[in-house]
Amino acid sequence: MLSKTNFHTHSNYCDGKATLREMVDFAVAHNFTALGFTGHCPLPFDNTYSITDYEGYCNEVRALKEEYADRIEISLGLEMDYVPGMLEDFSPLIKQGGLEYTIGSIHLIPAEGSAPRSADDLWMIDGSRYQTYDEGLMKHFGGDIRRGVRAYFHNENAMLERNRPTIVGHPDKIVMHNRDRYFTEDEPWYRDLALETIHLIKELDLICEINTRGIYKGRHADYYPGKWLIQEMKQLHIPVLVSTDAHAPEDLLRTEGAYEYLQEIGYRDVLKSWRDAQ
Ligand SMILES: [Zn+2]
Ligand SMILES: [Zn+2]
Repeated sequence: MLSKTNFHTHSNYCDGKATLREMVDFAVAHNFTALGFTGHCPLPFDNTYSITDYEGYCNEVRALKEEYADRIEISLGLEMDYVPGMLEDFSPLIKQGGLEYTIGSIHLIPAEGSAPRSADDLWMIDGSRYQTYDEGLMKHFGGDIRRGVRAYFHNENAMLERNRPTIVGHPDKIVMHNRDRYFTEDEPWYRDLALETIHLIKELDLICEINTRGIYKGRHADYYPGKWLIQEMKQLHIPVLVSTDAHAPEDLLRTEGAYEYLQEIGYRDVLKSWRDAQ
């Protein structure tokens, strides 16, 4: 029996549905050996999803880590956003919070060459509504999907090069709200962009997550990254971690066949903790 772990976990400090302690208690009750918290990093504008009480979050994770030390290994992380012109360097938050690790993710994209000041200046590619994606694409990229997707991968690559996050978060999330409407993943221009990022992950020697959230939320039929990219990553021996991107306790169990799939295709470099790649 594989040990159960999850290193991409939210709580009600950001947009999660449960307290840190409720997440930990659920994990302990289901025999998890490790749990890493990665709330959405504080952002310099009003929004409904990121941490506002950063100090409180870090202190409470650390207190739980100590309290539960004999039952489960808790680690303190953050899901970092990279927003050119607004949040480019991860190190101040890492230092301020005394973080053990980071997940690097792109959710927000400013229009090319713009200096973003608020949410109004950003294309939000995540969230529950595909209409937000459509509206943002129109507003910030004139509806030009190739320009929008190019900006996404450009920012992703810049984020990886500049900050080398411990774990690469959902590297192809840009496909979620696309739903095969603007493009399909077998179009050469898209394949080239996605593969370039995968090769950069290899070059920088980073861990990539296999994120299952799109499947159990019914928003996407595949993991992030998708299976065709996982096949490429397998050839490159990129170490991977299965993560549920849990926003509620029961999400922690939603691995959606990822371990079985990785085993089935003979993926050798499956980690049980980000610490294993050190
Ligand atoms: Zn994310
Ligand atoms: Zn997340």
